[in-house]
Amino acid sequence: MKINGISYWVKDGKCEMLNLDDGLKILHIPAFMDKVNGEVIGLCGGVEKFIVEDGNPNYYIKDNCLISKDGELIAGAADSVIPTDGSVKRIGNMAFLHKAPMHLVIPDGVKSIGYRAFAENENLHSVYIPESVGEISCAFERCNNLTAVFFGGSREEWESVMKGHKVNPFGAELEVYCKTEKEGESYGIDGRHVCPICGKTMFPGNNSCDICMFCGWEDDVDYERFPDMESCANGYTVAEYRKMYFERVKENPNYNWWAEVNEQGGRK
Ligand SMILES: [Zn+2]
Repeated sequence: MKINGISYWVKDGKCEMLNLDDGLKILHIPAFMDKVNGEVIGLCGGVEKFIVEDGNPNYYIKDNCLISKDGELIAGAADSVIPTDGSVKRIGNMAFLHKAPMHLVIPDGVKSIGYRAFAENENLHSVYIPESVGEISCAFERCNNLTAVFFGGSREEWESVMKGHKVNPFGAELEVYCKTEKEGESYGIDGRHVCPICGKTMFPGNNSCDICMFCGWEDDVDYERFPDMESCANGYTVAEYRKMYFERVKENPNYNWWAEVNEQGGRK
């Protein structure tokens, strides 16, 4: 049987999603549907918006996420924001397949991240995983640019998270930053912030002195607070450096500072 592009069947008196039409952009779930299938939605790939008809007993929408009333985020879209009110306990299998943002923050209260939940996202560069997470199942498979994980617990707690065999099979080399005991330590998570020039790197802490591989900006937090001041480490203000960076990207959309340094044997 089929309604709104959803194929379904009825089994033991329950109505269950089986498949979706190719190219479906709006997923309109009727009130009588008892069970939707997050993996089917993830693999369908093109859903941009979710609607649940009033009276559906099991599902609701928040911040363009499809969520079950027992706390599983079933599916999201590229502009979805995972609710931070503690209602989401689990990110379902393939919930964000091909759809993650550049920097991903998993909210506190989430306990498990399902199989391939954020897999195959080329634009995902960093992820924050809260201490509440105890299980991750190949969630970041084939995320080729994911290089930094910030974990809200201690190193020991990170080691004890159940991870299947790896959180990012076939992905990039991962650096995992855990919360330090001492506040203000540069590799704690408290000062983590995105590169103010290109937005592609998450610096692990205030004044980490790390250099962004994409644009070459050296982390220099005082000068980010006062954008008109010239940064000693970089020789330019944030605004000047940003202008230069975007000019380079305009000339070459694949511009990468680190690759250029390696080619020329020195920083320009
Ligand atoms: Zn940068």
